Amino acid sequence: MDYIKSLQQMIDNSNNIVFFGGAGVSTESGIPDFRSQSGIYHQQYKYPPETILSHSFYLEHTEEFFEFYRKKMIFPEAKPNKAHEKLAELDKAGKLKAVVTQNIDGLHQKAGSKTVFELHGSVHRNYCTRCGKFFDLNFILNHAGIPTCDCGGTIKPDVVLYEEALDQNIIQNAISSISKADVFIVGGSSLAVYPAADLIHYFRGKKFVLINRSETLQDVRTDLSIQGSIGEVLSHISV
Ligand code: NAD
Repeated sequence: MDYIKSLQQMIDNSNNIVFFGGAGVSTESGIPDFRSQSGIYHQQYKYPPETILSHSFYLEHTEEFFEFYRKKMIFPEAKPNKAHEKLAELDKAGKLKAVVTQNIDGLHQKAGSKTVFELHGSVHRNYCTRCGKFFDLNFILNHAGIPTCDCGGTIKPDVVLYEEALDQNIIQNAISSISKADVFIVGGSSLAVYPAADLIHYFRGKKFVLINRSETLQDVRTDLSIQGSIGEVLSHISV
């Protein structure tokens, strides 16, 4: 497979790789993405998922928000797949400088990646909107209805909902690593969610690689475009 050889060569020749990924990175761990045929956007609900996952819906229909969130956004049994594992190996070898992810599942850290910029937050962090007390994922899973703190405040997951702003500190760190990288691997993302998708334009380095099951609008500007499953593709790479 010529494309694997090309990717291997790019990886061998760099000690400054950055990875940018999305929901497609975790589908091989059994977590559905949003826009694939089997994704959440193709299932039927009372409201469109974009509406349920918005800040205003969270405020106005908190109970329904948590019902959807627990059922569709939390996968406590999911394990890292070959993509997460290979990226963690590249991190350990000092070749991969950062993972920039739109995912909220924490699987990159579970696989051992050390520098992970979570643009959309994490299901593993939850905090009381009144007193700021921190709660883990188990607390959310083990409490039916609206999770509530001892102080009476509602506990909100630290995930970025539609209509909410991204953390500026995380964006700055992500931009800084992307703009300094010499190999940039983008994978498992439709690149349709903004402002996250805009970050790829900060890449100034030599090799831009895209690994995705379906085509994206960015395929034309890559040095190497691989259409396939990211875990399967990365499993062929040796570190
Ligand atoms: P998306 O659903 O818009 O796009 C996923 C893309 O990945 C598609 O282009 C699809 O063809 C591709 N894909 C699916 N499985 C793949 C695989 N195994 N290998 C390679 N490509 C694969 O996802 P997005 O671009 O990340 O944007 C949607 C938003 O969804 C993000 O903001 C993210 O926060 C959120 N989300 C996160 C999770 C998670 O944390 N695992 C799951 C669902 C959605």
